[in-house]
Amino acid sequence: MEQTGWGGEWITLDAQGAMNVPPNPNIGFIEGDGTGPDIWAATRPVLDAAILKAYGGSRKIHWGELLAGEKAVEETGHPLPMKTIDMIRKCVVAIKGPLTTPVGTGMRSLNVTLRRVLDLYACIRPVRYFPGIPSPVRHPERVDMVVFRENTEDVYAGIEWESGSLEAEKLAHFLYDNFNVTLPERAGVGIKPMSPTGTKRLVRQAIAYALQRGLPSVTLVHKGNIMKYTEGAFRKWGFELARDEFADRTVAESDLQEGKSPEGKVVIKERIADSMFQQVLLRPEEYSVIATPNLNGDYLSDALAAQVGGLGMAPGANVGDEAAVFEATHGTAPKYAGLDKINPGSLILSGVMMLDHLGWAEAATLIQQAMERTIGEGIVTYDLARQMQGAKEVGCSRFGRAIIEHMD
Ligand code: NAP
Repeated sequence: MEQTGWGGEWITLDAQGAMNVPPNPNIGFIEGDGTGPDIWAATRPVLDAAILKAYGGSRKIHWGELLAGEKAVEETGHPLPMKTIDMIRKCVVAIKGPLTTPVGTGMRSLNVTLRRVLDLYACIRPVRYFPGIPSPVRHPERVDMVVFRENTEDVYAGIEWESGSLEAEKLAHFLYDNFNVTLPERAGVGIKPMSPTGTKRLVRQAIAYALQRGLPSVTLVHKGNIMKYTEGAFRKWGFELARDEFADRTVAESDLQEGKSPEGKVVIKERIADSMFQQVLLRPEEYSVIATPNLNGDYLSDALAAQVGGLGMAPGANVGDEAAVFEATHGTAPKYAGLDKINPGSLILSGVMMLDHLGWAEAATLIQQAMERTIGEGIVTYDLARQMQGAKEVGCSRFGRAIIEHMD
């Protein structure tokens, strides 16, 4: 394979889109803005230490920095250089810190741009509890879910026009003239596109994920009782996909005999979104993988993160057919930038997801277990320490080092 300036080999994709991961892959990282450099500096040694410990030097990531955000503007004059996008495609796998979205410049979020340009259509957010972390619910340990949120469609597609704009007025006239639909005067208008292709590729990833990991169910969460041809269609297309592509390995909840799921099959459930918000509070143990449109997924993943202790510990990934970018789900938290204070847990756990994605499960497990032990001993950053009795508060980099020390 071709060697690079980074010293490793490239990950490649075969004709079916499966990854071939060499033992020494080149992986791109974007430090991010604000506290991004703090959390990346704490995360990278944890990932490297776990890989060394798990594989004794036979596997190693060759990191290459990719520019985005303020650092990219300083060095290239552009916040998201084309070279960065090309290199993420070349690497197939990358990890990033948070990026600032400039307010009032009219520029779209860099994160949204990255997802759109690379067609990273599934936003994946695992939510699980680490014992010892303060939680607002009585049984946070019952929460163990992975949200697959559709990333490219729905009201987030950016098709909207301001109140009073020429476009909004034209659209109002078009609707009235053609469909006898009257909008409220001076209404701003947004459009909610949802397609069979967009839905099915998301649900396909969610079911494949559940099957690979032996998880019990995939729940389609939608608001189809009200929005029949978008959210309702999401439900319909989701079941269609399960039937057409995974007939022998899935079963619809409505087809279960006496409520029991056959050995080795993933149960496909469906829930209305508002009811699901109750369910995840009252009966979280009944849900495992969740597949849902963009807006529902945005709300649900943050609500679930709150159940297990907040965004400081919530990892995420944006995954398409040709690339995957793993990222901290919180923002740049600029007031803590450079203070070595913020919780790096979200980025470290995103790194755990990345190792899992590479098929390096042993290293991923080492970090998870070490993080459990570290938090279990009350060694945490300020955000968790301020809610815990008897915590030993440490800074960002010290928390990372404590995880490495707990890898035995
Ligand atoms: P934020 O950066 O997430 O920070 C809000 C607050 O959340 C912080 O002040 C802090 O609370 C807490 N927090 C966030 N990350 C934490 C961590 N790792 N450890 C502990 N506490 C943490 O939200 P924001 O201030 O609304 O956004 C700032 C910038 O980030 C904006 O430009 C926004 O567009 C951008 N952003 C980027 C991404 C991304 O790149 N994926 C995502 C969201 C926002 P306390 O002050 O209470 O300690």
